[in-house]
Amino acid sequence: MENTDDVRSALIVGAGIAGLTAASALAGRGWLVEVAEVSTEGATVGWGLSLTGPSLRALDQLGLADQCLTARIWHAHDHHTDAHGAVTPVALPCLLGEDRPAMAGIARGELHRILHTAALRLGVRIRYGLSVSRLAQQAGQVHVELTDGTTRAVDLLVGADGIRSTVRDLTGCTAPVDYHGQMVWRALVPRPDWATGIHTYASTGHQTGLVPISATQAYVFLTENGVRPEVLPDSELAERMAELLASFAGRVAEFRPLVARSGSVVRRPVQTVIVDAPWSHGSSIVIGDAAHAPSPQMISGAALAIEDGLILAEELDRQQDVPKAPESFTDRRWEQCSVLVKTSVAISHLEQEQRHRDSHQLIDACHRQMAQPA
Ligand SMILES: Cc1cc2nc3c(=O)[nH]c(=O)nc-3n(C[C@H](O)[C@H](O)[C@H](O)COP(=O)(O)OP(=O)(O)OC[C@H]3O[C@@H](n4cnc5c(N)ncnc54)[C@H](O)[C@@H]3O)c2cc1C
Repeated sequence: MENTDDVRSALIVGAGIAGLTAASALAGRGWLVEVAEVSTEGATVGWGLSLTGPSLRALDQLGLADQCLTARIWHAHDHHTDAHGAVTPVALPCLLGEDRPAMAGIARGELHRILHTAALRLGVRIRYGLSVSRLAQQAGQVHVELTDGTTRAVDLLVGADGIRSTVRDLTGCTAPVDYHGQMVWRALVPRPDWATGIHTYASTGHQTGLVPISATQAYVFLTENGVRPEVLPDSELAERMAELLASFAGRVAEFRPLVARSGSVVRRPVQTVIVDAPWSHGSSIVIGDAAHAPSPQMISGAALAIEDGLILAEELDRQQDVPKAPESFTDRRWEQCSVLVKTSVAISHLEQEQRHRDSHQLIDACHRQMAQPA
């Protein structure tokens, strides 16, 4: 892909949430956009995602919020149940008005399908099984060598390639991936009738919860404290997760058998990344988890990723000089993204100290802060 004189061109590495959002936001402004995704098409892992108010607000700007809400799995409240069984409902801010929800659950594959279709409709070219092997800034353009041996010269290179970003390394925006002593489990289960919002439960050992993602499906999450990030065989995951849930009473005892029978259980380390500003080098920039990956407890990484795509496009509109836009983008995003990552680390520590009331208060306060306009 070579750009012509009057059309600006971008290569985006990673067809995840940040990459596809940035692709649509740029293509919608007349950019020629190509996306290189290392996985094969349709490889999205099948567990669900909570779309917080800021996610829905940003999706609404792309004209996609209503498509994400068709399952009508709307969350108006968080219900925190402490180790003694006391329930605290927490009303969430409704950023799209009272007639639309504060938060919603969605299957990851469904969100990906919506973002992917929107990008294709805007003319974005998405290529699978492809990555980047080399980058060089030359005369106002980024020269890129791809893993299939082809090359590109583009006005902008966006690394949206997730927490283990290759582009981050190639641009020299290095940052450690920190592990926080917790593993997070997710299991897809049939939705119990009573599950209408986010239900979280604390015990003296771990934290768990249930989040509906469609009329028929929900995911159960479990945060396991004080463990090494070892990989377990897939065949053992459902049984091991059900064992960890044995220390919880009440509703958890009801959905525990569903977890034991689940055919879709994943276990991931709780890790974070925050790249020091600036997140760019010349006309190459990293966005989404590649720049700032919070731990999953804040269920807000997708919100930051979607907002990043939109705000990067806005800054490129404002700046005639492409290399200035990544800098002003970082200036605009730094505070909010770094606060979220740091808060998510603090929550991970509070959970491990069994200070659940403090962690819930911090989560709720941070959701309110994230609700401020990006
Ligand atoms: C267990 C868990 C639960 C979570 N739950 C929530 C939640 O409920 N709500 C929420 O808002 N957030 C949640 N998050 C966070 C959220 O998933 C991430 O913040 C979000 O996916 C980041 O989007 P991204 O596009 O930056 O990265 P990703 O979604 O990781 O996408 C990166 C893409 O880049 C591709 N890629 C990687 N390397 C290369 C390469 N070298 N070349 C080309 N392509 C490459 C990948 O295949 C992938 O398609 C959760 C995270 C975890 C781990």
